Amino acid sequence: MSRVVLRNGKVFDSLNGKLIDGQTIIIQDRKINWIGQDSSYDQESKDKIIDVSGKVLLPGLMDLHVHLEFLHEFIYNMERAMLRTKDAMLGYYALKNAQEHLKSGFTTIRDCGSETLAPSSLRKLINEEFLLGPRCLVAQQPIVQWGNKEEFGPHDWIKFMRREEVISGTDGMIHAVRERRRDGSDFIKTITTGGVLHGQESKVELSLWNNDELHAMVAEAERLGMHVASHAHGSLGNHTAVEAGIRTIEHGSMITEETVRMMVKKGTYLVPTQSAFSFFDNLTPEKKKAFPPEIIEKGEHLAQFIAENHKMAYEKGVNIALGTDAPVASAHGNSARELLLMVENMGMTPIEALQAATINAARAIRMEEELGSLEVGKYADLVVVNGNPLDDLTLLEQKENLLYVLKDGKIVAKQGRLEL
Ligand SMILES: [Zn+2]
Repeated sequence: MSRVVLRNGKVFDSLNGKLIDGQTIIIQDRKINWIGQDSSYDQESKDKIIDVSGKVLLPGLMDLHVHLEFLHEFIYNMERAMLRTKDAMLGYYALKNAQEHLKSGFTTIRDCGSETLAPSSLRKLINEEFLLGPRCLVAQQPIVQWGNKEEFGPHDWIKFMRREEVISGTDGMIHAVRERRRDGSDFIKTITTGGVLHGQESKVELSLWNNDELHAMVAEAERLGMHVASHAHGSLGNHTAVEAGIRTIEHGSMITEETVRMMVKKGTYLVPTQSAFSFFDNLTPEKKKAFPPEIIEKGEHLAQFIAENHKMAYEKGVNIALGTDAPVASAHGNSARELLLMVENMGMTPIEALQAATINAARAIRMEEELGSLEVGKYADLVVVNGNPLDDLTLLEQKENLLYVLKDGKIVAKQGRLEL
């Protein structure tokens, strides 16, 4: 197979957080085969050369918290959306939304919970190159504690929807993990506290699962080669999740210094989802009317702590990986906004934000041998950017600056248009 060569670009070295000019990358069989100074490049006659002089080459970006099946409009009325949307439609939405991420330079995404089993089928069809899309890691249905998450709807509807799954005790937990594995999950998503959009009665301070259950979940998941991600707002739910060995804490709104110290020791990752919280900051009075007042109250209550707590976690040295909770804040395909929010709200540098979206995200999902940096032997997932995002991250929000998106060494999008 002929080689694809990107000549003479400025490569973002995500491991060391610097830009190296005059670099040429040779891609063969989906992977980076050689990288070095352009003057040392040994040209072969069949090489397909792309001149990237003056352009910045980033490793493919990663968003570790999305919900592919959902549209942004759903957020304003989950009950109606769930009642009116057929399961098959959710699968098609997932495909369209996955492609929106790919077009925007996000070549790997982690789906943190779906209604149907569509995401694992989508992942398979993308991996088989039957459909074009990003690399997907999927949780399928999260492991939730019945009675503490209201699902979306009135009681009778919930009873109708209920999947006869009351998970309790360590045996119940082991069963639930194995069932997710059989359904095609790459990792386990759970919730250790109530949530903002989970319903009026779902209290964000409430700590779900007892310690034995959490330990059983993590042990069984890890035994089967899966990590666990947990949604957590309240401080106790954050703490028990970290204590049990959960790998990524999603949101972490009311995280304490004590928990943060344990995260640093254990190497736990925080996925701040600043985008999701910006949603409540930016709601117009008219749009607020779409929500029950309890939900608005919860969102506004948490918004008071988040920037400060996440900043504290970052300053104390917690590993940070990018995740948006798309489509809560906006439609899929706008994950680059999170980079800016991490800089503005948490005090990270643009370089650190880009590391959170590349090498740190890869480490969080234990794929740092394959993804997250532009090195020999890794998958050739990368973005060729017009302009320097290290100076101005907003460049990444404008798709015309994303000259090429490559996944597995193939150009999959040019300036926001898919190369189907
Ligand atoms: Zn989420």
